Amino acid sequence: MAFWLDSYPNNSLVKKAYEFAKKAHEGQKRQSGESYLTHPLTVAYTVFQWHLDEASVAAALLHDVVEDTSHSLEEIKKTFGEEVAFLVSGLTKLKKLPQPQKIVQQAENIRKFVLAFSKDLRVVIIKLADRLHNLKTLKYLPLEKQKEIAQETIEIYAPLAYRLGMQKLSGELEDLSFPYLYPSQYQWLSQTVKERYAEREAYAKKIKPLVLKTLLEHGIKPLAIDSRAKRYFSLYKKLLRYDMDIEKIYDLVALRIIVKTVEDCYAALGVIHQMWPPLPSRFKDYIARPKPNGYRSLHTTVFSVDNKITEIQIRTQEMHEEDEWGIAAHWAYEQSKSRKTYKKKLSVFANRKDLIWVKQLQNWQQKFTDPEEFLNSLKVDFFKDRIFVITPQNEIIDLPAGATPVDFAYHIHSEIGDQCIGAKVNGKIVPLDYELKSGDLVEILTQKGKKPSASWLAFIKTSVARQHIKKFIQLKKTNINLSPSQNLEFKIVSHPRLGLLKDITEIFSQSKIKIISLNTSPPNQKLKMTMINIKCPFLNKNVLEKLMVKLKNINAVREVSYKFIR
Ligand code: MN
Repeated sequence: MAFWLDSYPNNSLVKKAYEFAKKAHEGQKRQSGESYLTHPLTVAYTVFQWHLDEASVAAALLHDVVEDTSHSLEEIKKTFGEEVAFLVSGLTKLKKLPQPQKIVQQAENIRKFVLAFSKDLRVVIIKLADRLHNLKTLKYLPLEKQKEIAQETIEIYAPLAYRLGMQKLSGELEDLSFPYLYPSQYQWLSQTVKERYAEREAYAKKIKPLVLKTLLEHGIKPLAIDSRAKRYFSLYKKLLRYDMDIEKIYDLVALRIIVKTVEDCYAALGVIHQMWPPLPSRFKDYIARPKPNGYRSLHTTVFSVDNKITEIQIRTQEMHEEDEWGIAAHWAYEQSKSRKTYKKKLSVFANRKDLIWVKQLQNWQQKFTDPEEFLNSLKVDFFKDRIFVITPQNEIIDLPAGATPVDFAYHIHSEIGDQCIGAKVNGKIVPLDYELKSGDLVEILTQKGKKPSASWLAFIKTSVARQHIKKFIQLKKTNINLSPSQNLEFKIVSHPRLGLLKDITEIFSQSKIKIISLNTSPPNQKLKMTMINIKCPFLNKNVLEKLMVKLKNINAVREVSYKFIR
C-alpha cells in the first residue's frame, strides 16, 4: 500500500475506497501494461498533495469504478454516501449513446462535467489530476487517441486550469500535449530554444547574487530568488504573435524574487529600478490590479548587466503558492481555517469575484440545444485566450481574445448591447468591429430605442452577443437576409510548403463550396509565411464552422480567419 494512505485511519473513507477500487479493478490492466489500480492511486495521490479533503481523495480512488467496472453509482452511494457519490458521478462519462457522432458524445460528456463542477469545484480539481496522469501515460495509446486527448486538453482542460488560477498545472498540461498535437513545431521549438535557455539560465545565475546583495543592503531579505524558464507551449503561442522571432521574447528566462510582505514587493521593485533602468511601459502591477484569474505579482523588464533585457517578477510567498496551485491553494487554506462545514466553504468559493464565471456556466449552458454549438461556444466564451479590459467604473471585464466593443456591451448588459451605437477605447472613438486589447479602457455609447444590427454577426466573438442579436432578428421577423448580397473572404497564413494550395482547394471542393477567387502572396521574407486569400459565396454558420476546422487542421497552416464582404 502506498505510504501516504497510512496518514488515514483504517476505518476512514479513503482506506475503504482504496480497498473497494482495488477489488473492482482487479485483473484490469492499463495500456502501459501496469495494473489498472496505479491510475486511480496516482490521481488520488495528486489530489492528496493538493491538500483536498477526504471525500475528494476517496472519489479520486473511485473515479473510474462506475465507468470501467460492473459497480453502479447506487452502490457507491450506499457504501460511501452522497458526497463521494456526487463527485464520482461528475467524473463518470455518460454511457455510450446510440448517437454515432463522436463530437456529440464529447459535447454531451463535457456538458455533464460542466454542470457537475459548477455545483462543486472539487469535481474539476480531481478531473484535472486525472487528465494529468493520462497525459503522462499518453505514449501507450494509439496515435489517433493521443491527438484527440491532447487537443481536448489544450482547448478545454488547460484553459480551465488557468481560469481557476492553477497556472503551473495549466502550463504542465499544455507542455505534455504539445508534442502530440504539433510534433514538427515542437521539434523546431525545442531545438531553437535549447541553447537560448542554457545561455539565459547562466545569465540569470550570474545576476542573482548581485540582486540578493543589493536587496540586503536596502534591508529587504528575500525568501527566495529563482529563475524560471518560460514553458514551451506558452512560448510557442507567444512566438506566433511575435513573428516567430525569439529575440523579441524578453521573458524567456525571468528572475523571480519572493519576499515576505506586499510592502517588500514594492520596496524591492524600487531597489531594482534604481539598480537597472526599466524598459518604459513594460511594468505591470498585478498586485493592485490582479489578473481576472486572481494572479498577483509585480512584473518589470529592465536593462540589467551588460545591458541585457531581463524580466523580473516580484511577489510574496502566498501569491507564489496561489499562482502555482490556484483554487486548490485556496481550498487548502479555507479548509485549514474551518474544517467543519463544507457548505460554507463552497459558498466562499462561489462568491469569489474571479470565480463568478463558474456560476454563470450553469445558466449559460442551458441556452444551447445543439451539442456541437455548445462545445464550440464553450471553447470561445470561457476557455479561449482571454483579454481583460476596463470599464469607466474601473471594473475589470474578461473576454475572449478578439472580442469587440459589441461583445463588451452585451457582456455588461443586454440593453447596452442592443442600444450600442459606438464605442470609445482609451478615449478615442473606434469602429464597432474594433479588436479590443488587454488593458483597454472601454466606454460604450448608446442611444435609446436603437436596435441591434444583423451585420454585427459578422464580427462578434461571444455567443452571449450572438444569441441576443439573433433573438432580436427573429423577433423582428422582417427576414433580414445576409446571404444573397454577401460573400466570404478567407485569409490563410501558412508556412510555405509543396502541395499546400492543393490541400486547401481540395477541402473547398470536397465541401462543395465554389471558389470565386484565390490569391497568394509570396512568402514574406521576414515572417517566412505565405498568405492566401480565398473568396467564396456566403455559407451558413454550420458549414462555415466545419470548413474553418478543416482549414486550421491543414499541415503548416498557422492562422485562418474570414470576413464578410460585399
Ligand atoms: Mn481516469
